[in-house]
Amino acid sequence: MTAHGARRPADDADSRRGEEGRPRVLVLAGLDPSGGAGLVADGEAILAAGARPLLCATAITIQTTARVRGWHGIPAEVVTAQALALAEEEGPIRAVKLGMLGSAAPAVARLKEHPLLAGAAWVVDPVLFSSSGAELVEGGTDAYRPLLERGPIVTPNAMEAGAFAGLPEPRDEAALLGCARRLVDGGAAAVLAKGGHLDGEPVDWLVSARGAEPLRGTRRPGSKRGTGCRLASFLAARLALGEGLFDAARDAKRYVAAYLDRGASA
Ligand code: PLP
Repeated sequence: MTAHGARRPADDADSRRGEEGRPRVLVLAGLDPSGGAGLVADGEAILAAGARPLLCATAITIQTTARVRGWHGIPAEVVTAQALALAEEEGPIRAVKLGMLGSAAPAVARLKEHPLLAGAAWVVDPVLFSSSGAELVEGGTDAYRPLLERGPIVTPNAMEAGAFAGLPEPRDEAALLGCARRLVDGGAAAVLAKGGHLDGEPVDWLVSARGAEPLRGTRRPGSKRGTGCRLASFLAARLALGEGLFDAARDAKRYVAAYLDRGASA
């Protein structure tokens, strides 16, 4: 920086080199052009966590800050080509984060077995609907099912946890924990089940074969879009940096709390 805060070209080159050297997190998610959720939110969170985002679009949504009007799925072969080009030339990929998959879920399930990606930490945010009620994945819960098996970390909200566990939507923390345990029994390495929509003070459950840990928070007034995207992306980035799962989840919750505190609904 100069005395007046302007960056010299050398500083820019240095900081770019710094970012390029960071562990890579590959994201497969939808573009929300209004910037509240999806790839833009993912990129912000991954940079804030100290890793490098590589952002592949699975769908282009037509949406404003208020609602989703529709979406257009990116063809499966284009989704696959984006991910493999990055894995081949910008790797190694330390973590993969999934958000909205549109019509690309089967292609993404095949990518999960690819040798360049199979060794990464997979963080799956199973996005079924937008907050305004639009369905964001073709095939519903069945489309995500193969992605929830064989060791991913899954971050469902209460509605999604119930849907994937095959149980009624949980209304309290005990029921949420029951759903999370089912997903671990079904093949997830860990589940961070988000209790933000339950009554009372919000509690998330971090559940793995090693046990269950409640992560308690404080309810904030209002709501903001993209909190699920940000939580899962920050978590994936911290795993890419080598942080343990519990610390990464706690830090991701802190990051989202700070994001919620930064002002009104967006
Ligand atoms: N991804 C995209 C592209 C979206 O448009 C949305 C919601 O509209 C989501 C993800 C889900 O966002 P949230 O983090 O609020 O669950």
